[in-house]
Amino acid sequence: MSKPIVSVSGIRGVIGETLLPEEALRWSLAYGTMVDGGTVVLGRDTRLSGEMLRGAVLAGLLSTGCKVIDLGIVPTPTLQLAVQHWQADGAVCITASHNPAEWNALKFFDSSGMYLDAEGLRKLKGIYEAGEFKRARWKEVGQIQHDGTAIDRHIERILTCVDVERIRSKKFKVVIDCVNGAACFISPRLLERLGCEVIALFEKPTGIFQRNPEPIAENLTELCRVVKENGADVGFAHDADVDRLAIVADGGEALGEEMTLVIAVYHVLAHKERGAVVTNLSTTMAVDEVAKHFGVEVYRTPVGDINVSKRLKEVGGAIGGEGNGGVIYPKIQYARDAIAALALVLEFMAMHNEPLSELVKRMPRYHMAKKRLAISKTPTPELFERIKQRYTAEEIIEEDGVKLKWDDHWVHVRPSGTEPILRVIAEAKTLEQAEKLCDEVINDMKRLLEL
Ligand code: MG
Repeated sequence: MSKPIVSVSGIRGVIGETLLPEEALRWSLAYGTMVDGGTVVLGRDTRLSGEMLRGAVLAGLLSTGCKVIDLGIVPTPTLQLAVQHWQADGAVCITASHNPAEWNALKFFDSSGMYLDAEGLRKLKGIYEAGEFKRARWKEVGQIQHDGTAIDRHIERILTCVDVERIRSKKFKVVIDCVNGAACFISPRLLERLGCEVIALFEKPTGIFQRNPEPIAENLTELCRVVKENGADVGFAHDADVDRLAIVADGGEALGEEMTLVIAVYHVLAHKERGAVVTNLSTTMAVDEVAKHFGVEVYRTPVGDINVSKRLKEVGGAIGGEGNGGVIYPKIQYARDAIAALALVLEFMAMHNEPLSELVKRMPRYHMAKKRLAISKTPTPELFERIKQRYTAEEIIEEDGVKLKWDDHWVHVRPSGTEPILRVIAEAKTLEQAEKLCDEVINDMKRLLEL
């Protein structure tokens, strides 16, 4: 039987095929050993396999002597915030995020609530492979404490960071697509606290997702329809563990996931605080334009939540995130938090008297093409070197694969952390230009790789 995929975003696999409870147990034994039997926060999304994996993870953690704070079903950012609250040594979240329902995964966090970084994961993998786990004697076996108030605390924290009265005065009509995931327990409640008229879609936490859980525009047709039919001010969509937010404007246009961060950055810099912006190398250059407008620096990191969160903390930035709809607002926490992002977008709308569809027209907008090339072996540095030499780019960035940049377009080639593919992402003023640039680079690579 094949093994789960191990990457910076956790241990992922298909239930009953590549992700089995005995694997989850072994990884949890390794994690419990790594935190030396400390306090670990545990949460999960709504997937049907969540309870089964919870059993395996609990056995691993308790048998290494960990005290487990079990939050039940919660969004990943709620769990990350709970690590701070409990001053825990780490956390495990059972969720496969935006993957379909047959997938599940274990995600591991450190004592600050951030994902394990590459070094932390290497250490965990070392313990897993060596198989020398801490074993508690009968009196030291860990115990479980249930915490049913993590979501309440998360909502209260968000409400202290936005102008609640201003948002409430607008009485926004909002459609929220919870994708039958962990959002069912938080987003409609937060919207009600913000005085919104709420229409909830896929709001039953069944774990059987009624649409593909990745909140990209093509998966949001139902949300677009309901926003339009009800004359709503805005529609919001999440993935299953609520660290990504996609926005549908009044009238029913899906703005595309890249625009979530652009709007959040614009709002924070214009109305809340000035400071540096941190995002990854594959995120839209509209972020740079907004930052330039407000005279602040943009720092770019390799792709991955932990890379952005870490740099944002280091530079003390005002806002950061990833183009996939993951917004990190440090006033709340150094984690992609789609519930906080939703409140920021409503606050932005409340500060203007125009509909969102008009407001976004004033923001820079580009078009992105995202393609992939299957490869049989790990790409060598020579491949990236040769790609670099074929183009006369104005700027070349080699931190994460290779990114070639010009004044109003760019292309980024990077090896996937989870699959044997190269990701090719290009952005330009039109979709045709972006697609053409992607295809050109893919064809070049095919020749170089003799595919
Ligand atoms: Mg997610």
